[in-house]
Amino acid sequence: MGSVLIIGAGAAGSVVAKKCAMNRDVFTKIHLASRTLSKCEKIQRECKSEITVSQIDADDTNAVIALINQVNPKLVINMALPYQDLTIMDACLATGVHYLDTANYEPKDEAKFSYSWQWPYHDKFKAKGIMGVLGCGFDPGVSNIYCAYAQNNLFDSIDYIDIIDCNDGNHGKSFATNFNPEINLREVTQRGKYWEDGKWIEIDPLSIARMIDYPEVGPRKSYLIYHEEEESLVKNIKGLKRIRFWMTFSDNYIKHLDVLQSVGMTSIKPVKFQGIDIIPLQFLTALLPVPSTLAENYTGKTSIGCIIQGIKNGKPRKALIYNVCDHAQTAKEVGAQAVSYTTGVPAVVGAMMILKGAWKGEGVFNVEQLPPEPFLEEVAKQGLPWHVKEMAVEDLKEPLAA
Ligand code: NDP
Repeated sequence: MGSVLIIGAGAAGSVVAKKCAMNRDVFTKIHLASRTLSKCEKIQRECKSEITVSQIDADDTNAVIALINQVNPKLVINMALPYQDLTIMDACLATGVHYLDTANYEPKDEAKFSYSWQWPYHDKFKAKGIMGVLGCGFDPGVSNIYCAYAQNNLFDSIDYIDIIDCNDGNHGKSFATNFNPEINLREVTQRGKYWEDGKWIEIDPLSIARMIDYPEVGPRKSYLIYHEEEESLVKNIKGLKRIRFWMTFSDNYIKHLDVLQSVGMTSIKPVKFQGIDIIPLQFLTALLPVPSTLAENYTGKTSIGCIIQGIKNGKPRKALIYNVCDHAQTAKEVGAQAVSYTTGVPAVVGAMMILKGAWKGEGVFNVEQLPPEPFLEEVAKQGLPWHVKEMAVEDLKEPLAA
């Protein structure tokens, strides 16, 4: 059906390449390019069907343009880091090729992720007649699509959304992050915020926590953090009164984070070390386990979903839409842990939607602006089944437990 260029051969990029290679009816030609060629070659050997590979520095727009011209794909799937979003979007614009990513842009020198850099590409993509799909991983991604599905099918109006994200897995390391350490630590160390009654409310990092009962996992302590899908969902879910995002962190993770932060190891400000400038967080990233190496012997599950409350047929309704994913099963299927799998599989399904024409449009879109039904049908077939659980309606305006 179409040729695809995947950029980024990391933990999630490997899942994308391997799943594309299992779906040759849709992905007729697959090319994987990344900063380190040997990582592409390793994935190439592990794919179930033939893919081609090459080296690319995606910070260089001209190099990406040359690669696109050589590969001639219909779509670029960006599985590199958020820092590369704009250079790759520029290359797609220059060559007239569709674009899809899983995380919004943030500048290297400021830990601030926001759609404010990518949304302004809408008119340029529209003028070029191409489609850009933003944030098509699990969260952002499937979480947004659960909300869109709920808006279309389960509710007449939605008042409250709580996105709940639990990784109850155990990788056996003293401290590791499940996706790129630099991006992960930038995310969790910044101030939290949530949106209520039309305004953003900021809180100190990890200063609000509560117990949340996760399907197939049970009650786990969850921290309110700011997450990027909130920025688009407040615009696209009509009548919304509040949206919050909760994520579990083990006491062990918090203990390490506290120490690393207190000694300045998570800082992104350069410090002089033996006469050269180094960024402490980049140095720490070099010391921490690489996320793509965590899969072996990883046990436990991820349990991620959206608790949505609103009105249906004049009555209050509350429902949880969720997926549970098992680390050992994903390791068996594609040699990756569940966090990489739940990121990579939705990107593949989003790509399928574009190539099959189920998602159409000219411009830049967040995934909740596109039809959720065909995506959810396919994502279940590709390994991420989803479920709707009715919940007792209660007042969600309770004071937040500290
Ligand atoms: P990894 O660090 O494992 O992979 C990133 C890959 O990008 C690496 O292979 C890296 O190359 C490559 N890369 C970095 N810079 C460049 C560059 N300039 N040119 C070419 N390639 C480059 O991270 P993950 O796979 O864990 O995460 C990938 C993306 O997925 C991130 O953007 C992350 O934010 C996003 N994500 C989204 C989630 C969601 O649910 N929406 C959840 C988790 C992650 P090298 O190997 O040489 O370093």
